[in-house]
Formats: sequence, C-alpha cells, structure tokens
Amino acid sequence: MNIIFLGPPGAGKGTQAQRICAAMNIPQISTGDILRRAMKEGTETGLKAKSYIDAGQLVPDEVIIDIVKERLAMEDCRGGYILDGFPRTVPQAEALDTFAKIDSVIELAVDDQVLVNRLSGRRVCVKCGATYHLSMLNGATTCAACGEELIQRNDDKAETVLNRLKVYHDQTAPLIGYYEKKGLLRKVDGDQGVDSTFEAIMKALKA
Ligand code: ADP
Ligand code: ADP
Ligand code: ZN
Repeated sequence: MNIIFLGPPGAGKGTQAQRICAAMNIPQISTGDILRRAMKEGTETGLKAKSYIDAGQLVPDEVIIDIVKERLAMEDCRGGYILDGFPRTVPQAEALDTFAKIDSVIELAVDDQVLVNRLSGRRVCVKCGATYHLSMLNGATTCAACGEELIQRNDDKAETVLNRLKVYHDQTAPLIGYYEKKGLLRKVDGDQGVDSTFEAIMKALKA
C-alpha cells in the first residue's frame, strides 16, 4: 500500500510512520530525514536546503520532488511505502501524481497549542534519528536505542516553531482538500496516546 502521512510539524508523523512501517514491513520515506542527512554530509542538496530549514521555510519544490521521485523508483518501494513529510505543497502533490499511485492519505490532526509543546520538548538522537519527548525522558540525555547523545533540532527552537506552523497552515493544509476530493483522505485524531493513535491509523488503513 502506498500511503501519505499528512499533518503539521509535531503531529506524530515520524513516530507513527516508524511503527506502521515496522508493522507492515514497508519503508518510511521521510523527506526531513533525507534533507538532514544531506546537510550533515554537506552535499549540494544539503547546502541548498540548510538556509530554508533553519528559517522554518519549505525547501523549493524542484529540489524535493526529484529526490522523492528517485527514492520511490528504488526496489524496496515496490511493495508499498509511507511518505512522511511529502507532499507539502499542491505543486508537490501534482508532481507526485505523475509518478506514483497513492492508495491512502492519513491526516493526523492536532491543535496548535499541543504542537508547540511537543516541538519544544522534542529531542532526537544524533546517530539513529530516534525521537523522544522531554516529558518521557526522566532526565536521560542519551538514546535508549543506541546510546548516543540526544539533541534539540535547530528548527525546533521557539522562534522557528511558530513560523513552521504558519507555513503548514498556508502551504500544506490545502492538501487536505486536494486529497478529500480524490476520496483518499482519512482523518485520525493525533491528540491521543501513541498506542491509541497507532490503533486508529491501522483501523483507518483497513477501512
Ligand atoms: P516535521 O517532522 O517537524 O514535520 P520534517 O522533519 O518533516 O519536520 O521537515 C523539516 C524541514 O525540512 C521542514 O521544515 C522543511 O524545511 C524541510 N522539508 C521536509 N520535507 C519537505 C518537503 N516535502 N518540501 C519542502 N521542504 C521540506
Ligand atoms: P512529526 O514527525 O509529525 O513532526 P514526531 O513524531 O517527531 O512528529 O513527534 C513530535 C514530538 O511529539 C516528539 O517529541 C514525540 O516524542 C512527541 N509525540 C509523538 N506522538 C505523540 C503522542 N501521541 N502524544 C504525545 N506526544 C507525542
Ligand atoms: Zn540513537
């Protein structure tokens, strides 16, 4: 099954995509992770993306579309995939329609006040990318999965978070209507526990 996870920053797309992918044995394609890796490695794409990401803006459509097109052409995507963080604009969705057939779009809905708290408390592992929240770390500063250091993403700092929410409402939220019209949209309440949200997504995918 080819699935899109749509939702504002902090909605739990990464957390849930990881779990659903493990349960369905399909790859998670996170454009945020791909871009952060490119920045770390200092590739041309990474250099191009950095100023946009640090400012909480979207990187230009033409940069991200080619990356996703190439990724979806890889062997491991033949049995399905979850797109986590793509598409984020109508032109990206229109481009996707030319090279992929999407079966289901999960909209993870969470209110802005909750998102601000989730994003400011998010901590990620520098090595494996595992995601945590301060409230569940009990003072721990290293990754439970691999032992490496946990850091705050640059773009999760308070100044940038509000900008990212505005960008979501202006540029990404129109995709809700885009996929509703195609009959692909399934809305899931993302403001419940991680386990309940997982169950709700599984149910929506089977419906
Ligand atoms: P979050 O998980 O908080 O929603 P991501 O890790 O998906 O954030 O994305 C981080 C940043 O990477 C975005 O703010 C944006 O600058 C860039 N980015 C990721 N995916 C896309 C995309 N599809 N189009 C444009 N920019 C993107
Ligand atoms: P996204 O990929 O949509 O930006 P993440 O999966 O990275 O979102 O989650 C953002 C933050 O919220 C992380 O700190 C994560 O641990 C936390 N989080 C994720 N799901 C939930 C949930 N259902 N309830 C409370 N906190 C959550
Ligand atoms: Zn780790």
